[in-house]
Amino acid sequence: MQVKLAKHSGFCFGVKKAVEEASNVKGKANTFGPLIHNPQVVQELAKKGITKIDRLEDADASSIIIRTHGASDKLIHEISSKGYNIIDLTCPFVKKVQEYAKDLEKVGYRVVVIGEKDHPEVLAIADNLKNPFVVEKPEDVDGLVEDKIGVVVQTTQSVQNFAEIIKKLGKWSDVKVHNTICNATKERQESAAELAEKVDLMIVVGGKSSGNTKRLVELCSGIKETKHIETDDDLQREWFDGKNVVGVTAGASTPDWVIRRVVKRIENEF
Ligand code: SF4
Repeated sequence: MQVKLAKHSGFCFGVKKAVEEASNVKGKANTFGPLIHNPQVVQELAKKGITKIDRLEDADASSIIIRTHGASDKLIHEISSKGYNIIDLTCPFVKKVQEYAKDLEKVGYRVVVIGEKDHPEVLAIADNLKNPFVVEKPEDVDGLVEDKIGVVVQTTQSVQNFAEIIKKLGKWSDVKVHNTICNATKERQESAAELAEKVDLMIVVGGKSSGNTKRLVELCSGIKETKHIETDDDLQREWFDGKNVVGVTAGASTPDWVIRRVVKRIENEF
């Protein structure tokens, strides 16, 4: 089987940096939730003593890692006031979104956060605000009554969903928009769509709970038959029947070695 890999796929700058720095931590440390949404990487880190907790009360290390998605000011204050050492691995692009959101609120805008309501990045941005309004899809803006609207967007949002929501917000009289979708997300979405046009089947590799991977799956599915897998073990022989060229892409939290194994297995076995 011929395999084409998307021009941009796999680890982004922020995830690469976070995984490297977490791997270099001496001794034990805890992260709130998984460091990144990739079970294979999380398992490797656990072997080195970097383990996830869901509540501060469950911490069993003196260092707490803030993951790429960031944490709210309140949570950071709570962690440091309890005497933990903080290792802040928040992606700088996520920090920027948090700053934009706080600044907009300071100058009187009702802040609209475009993103998944339950995603840790969105929860942290919203938790820093007095009156956030989280929007997942265009219909959600119908409940907005204020005229002065300030918009920020989750760094890994779909470019298309963002554009549709902004179009709808065009009816409001004072709208200030910070397009904070990061470059790595844009590049991965663009190159996945480009590749999907040229192949018979798309395989998207990434954690089942990775938001940016799920959006690559949605995007590719609209163009070509698409399968979402976490590792090469999820590949199924019948998917490749009658196919000649397969495209592979991967979310920003999928390590290179996982992608390489998928590519190799498709090339050699199907
Ligand atoms: S996807 Fe973008 S914002 Fe998120 S960690 Fe990667 S570079 Fe940072």
